[in-house]
Amino acid sequence: YPRRRDTHGFKAQYNIQGQLGKGHFATVYLAIEKNTGKRFAVKKFEKRSGPGERSKVEGLQQEIAVLKGVSHPNMLCLKDTFDESDGVYLVLELAPEGELFNWIVKKQKLTEVETRKVFVQLFQGVKYLHERNIVHRDIKPENILLLDEKLSVKLADFGLAKIIGEASFTTTLCGTPSYVAPEILEQTNRRRYTRAVDVWSLGVVLYICLCGFPPFSDELYSTENPYTLSQQIRMGRFDYPSPYWDSVGDPALDLIDKMLTVDVEKRITIDECLEHPWTTQQAISVTDSTDGLTGALAGLDFSKRKPMRERTLLSSINDVKVERVIETQDEGPPVKVWDKNRNQPTPKEKKAGHVERTVVEPNPDNG
Ligand code: ATP
Repeated sequence: YPRRRDTHGFKAQYNIQGQLGKGHFATVYLAIEKNTGKRFAVKKFEKRSGPGERSKVEGLQQEIAVLKGVSHPNMLCLKDTFDESDGVYLVLELAPEGELFNWIVKKQKLTEVETRKVFVQLFQGVKYLHERNIVHRDIKPENILLLDEKLSVKLADFGLAKIIGEASFTTTLCGTPSYVAPEILEQTNRRRYTRAVDVWSLGVVLYICLCGFPPFSDELYSTENPYTLSQQIRMGRFDYPSPYWDSVGDPALDLIDKMLTVDVEKRITIDECLEHPWTTQQAISVTDSTDGLTGALAGLDFSKRKPMRERTLLSSINDVKVERVIETQDEGPPVKVWDKNRNQPTPKEKKAGHVERTVVEPNPDNG
C-alpha cells in the first residue's frame, strides 16, 4: 500500500522559506501556511540527546505553557505547536520587521518620541505579564520585535519566563549578563527576586535606546572605571556622558534612575513606569534630537551575543565596600554620576555640574 500522507504534521501544513534568526536554543524560520498563504515565524527546537538537553526540554515546555496563556497586543502570540521526530516546532505570529535594534541601526534614527512610543507598549505588555504573575526574566533588544514601521512592538522569547506564585520567589540565575538585575547576581545571598528584574532590564534597554550604548559594559573598563560588568551592575554604577545625553530631557533621566535602582524595594514598579511623567508626556520635546545617536548605534554590534545562563558569572567576584565622594563643579559637563543609589542628586543637579566619584575598596569583612 502507498504510505498515507500525513496531513496533520508541520510539513504538511507549512512551507519553510528561510531563516529569520537564531538563538541559543532554537532556530527561527519564516513559514507559509499552505492553506491560507499566511506568513508565520516558526521556532524549531532540535531534538538531541546529551548534556543539558533535559533542561532545554523543560524550558521549552515552560515557554509553551506561558505562551499558551498569553494574549496581549504587545506579546508574541503562539498559533500552534508540533512535536515531530526531528524537532519541536512553535508556530508564532510573525514580526515582519524583525528585531527592533536591527531596524534602528538600519534607519539610523531613534528619537525620544519614538523611544516613548516603543516603551509605552513594552510597559503595557510587561504590566499584563506581571498582573498574571509571569516574570519574563530575559528582556533584551533581541527579544523586542517590530511589526511595522509605525513602531508597533511585541515582546518575544518566553524561554526563561516563569509563572510565580504571589508569595513565592524565584532565585535561578538566568538572563543575559548586560541586562540582568543586581539581585540576580547576588546569588551568594540567595536573595529572592521578583517582577522587579523585568523593570531593571527594561531600564537598560531604555538607556540604550536614548543614547546608543549600554549603561553597563565590560568595554567601559578603564583606569577611571576599573569595574567588571557585574560589579558595575551590583553597584548600579553608570552615568550619562556628554554629548550623547545632552539633548535628552530630565524626565527620561529620572525614569532611568528609578528603573536602574539597585534596591529592589525602592525600584519603580511597572505601573509606576506607565504613570511616570516621561511616559505620559504628550508634547514633542524641543530637545528631541538624534544628535550623536546614529554613530553610537551603528557602532554597536547586537549580533555579538554573550553566552546566556552564565551560572558561573559571579563566582569570581568578591564583595566590595563602596564609599561615595561628591564634588561640586562651578560649571557644566562632564557629568559623572556613579553609585546612583546612594543619596543620588536629581537630574537637574547632575546637569548643573555635580561630579560624583565612587571609591571602591575590598571589603575587609569579606576576608
Ligand atoms: P535566546 O538565545 O535569546 O534564548 P531563542 O533560542 O529562545 O533565543 P528567540 O530569541 O525566540 O530564540 O529567537 C531568535 C531570533 O529569531 C530573535 O532574536 C529574532 O531575530 C528572530 N525571531 C524570533 N521570533 C520571531 C518572530 N516571531 N518574527 C520574526 N523574527 C523572530
